[in-house]
Amino acid sequence: MNKLSVRDVDVSSKRVLVRVDFNVPLDERTGAITDDGRILAALPTIRYLIDQGARVILASHLGRPDGKVDEKLRMTVVAQRLSQILNQSVEAIRDCIGAEAEESVANLKSGDVILLENLRFYAAEEDNDPLFAQELAKLADIFVDDAFGTAHRSHTSIVGVTKHLPAVAGLLLEKELRMLGGILDSPTHPFAALLGGAKVSDKVAMVENIMGKVDCILIGGGMAATFLKASNREVGLSLIEEEMLDTAADLMEKATRSGVRIMLPDDVLVANEINTKATFKVVPVEAIPANMRIADIGPWSVKSFSEELRGCKTIFWNGPMGVYEIPIFAEGTLALAKLLAGSQATTVIGGGSTAEAVTHIGLADKMTFVSTGGGASLQFLSGKSLPGVDALLDRDNPVSS
Ligand code: ADP
Ligand code: MG
Repeated sequence: MNKLSVRDVDVSSKRVLVRVDFNVPLDERTGAITDDGRILAALPTIRYLIDQGARVILASHLGRPDGKVDEKLRMTVVAQRLSQILNQSVEAIRDCIGAEAEESVANLKSGDVILLENLRFYAAEEDNDPLFAQELAKLADIFVDDAFGTAHRSHTSIVGVTKHLPAVAGLLLEKELRMLGGILDSPTHPFAALLGGAKVSDKVAMVENIMGKVDCILIGGGMAATFLKASNREVGLSLIEEEMLDTAADLMEKATRSGVRIMLPDDVLVANEINTKATFKVVPVEAIPANMRIADIGPWSVKSFSEELRGCKTIFWNGPMGVYEIPIFAEGTLALAKLLAGSQATTVIGGGSTAEAVTHIGLADKMTFVSTGGGASLQFLSGKSLPGVDALLDRDNPVSS
């Protein structure tokens, strides 16, 4: 990585502001954290800073409070969980700037950790606001960005604050860039991309960017319908993106020209509607009934995708193979998650839903790497830079801009 990391600067006794991604899912009824994966992912940086004797000031957004205080979106519950995990007190501060935050910071001793209030209680957070940036920066001597999940956003706590403090990467951010960068720069071949999920339009830039690097692209999920239609198959009531038909055809042609194999499903599970009570059956893609829609890939597709993936040394997976939220449509996603989990290949998972599916099945720790960034990982794999990364100090030229 060409950016400085937290290991490259002296943090001992320093006040270190760490932007983390603690945007954890909460139970609607009880407000309890339903998945603490994002908290766990930030632990290496937090523990490193504690060990180095830094004064640790954590900051994150949580949910969408739209620039005002929302009692349901206070960081208290996150501070409690982090405190349990670290086995040390983590105080939740009732504000993220101003007198109360400043006083709490002034009282910090080496190795102490506090968590500031939800950054998005201020509308200025999403506006990359210079005054809000100054207020945040006032709290610290050094800024560490460990929030890969929001690195594609030019928000105040990600970009603005770096104008005032030496800014370096946290260990999670560094690892994300190393793992995702690794599959782009130096993948071990054969390299396959297994793609699914809802929409082709979300993924076109990424597919174009990885086209020159992969040996094979396997397409399932909702986006398979658009590719099937572009290959002159009838897809019944499946959601297709009309405006993406030409793009899909182009991508397939480009693939052929560059010697990249594109695999579409041989069979699919079709349903009369997308819910738990649906009637469904497996059909070959040549025989999708006009009154049904694709909800998952079928067993033959699982078999042919599996055979292809078994021969690969690097596998990148983005996008579930079906509507995995509904158990009757989750078989394809489940089967391929198991295959990847048992594979000797380097397996990298990107995409919010895909990571969630793999975690829900309990196989996340069997993968080489599961990215914590949905949108950020897509943008990075599309070959576009991330504002949150660009803003950090360069390794070769560490002069603050
Ligand atoms: P990720 O967040 O991993 O990048 P996406 O956001 O692209 O994935 O897509 C995830 C969504 O795609 C899931 O909600 C899933 O239900 C939906 N999906 C997958 N297959 C289908 C399908 N055949 N029809 C409709 N939706 C689908
Ligand atoms: Mg998604």
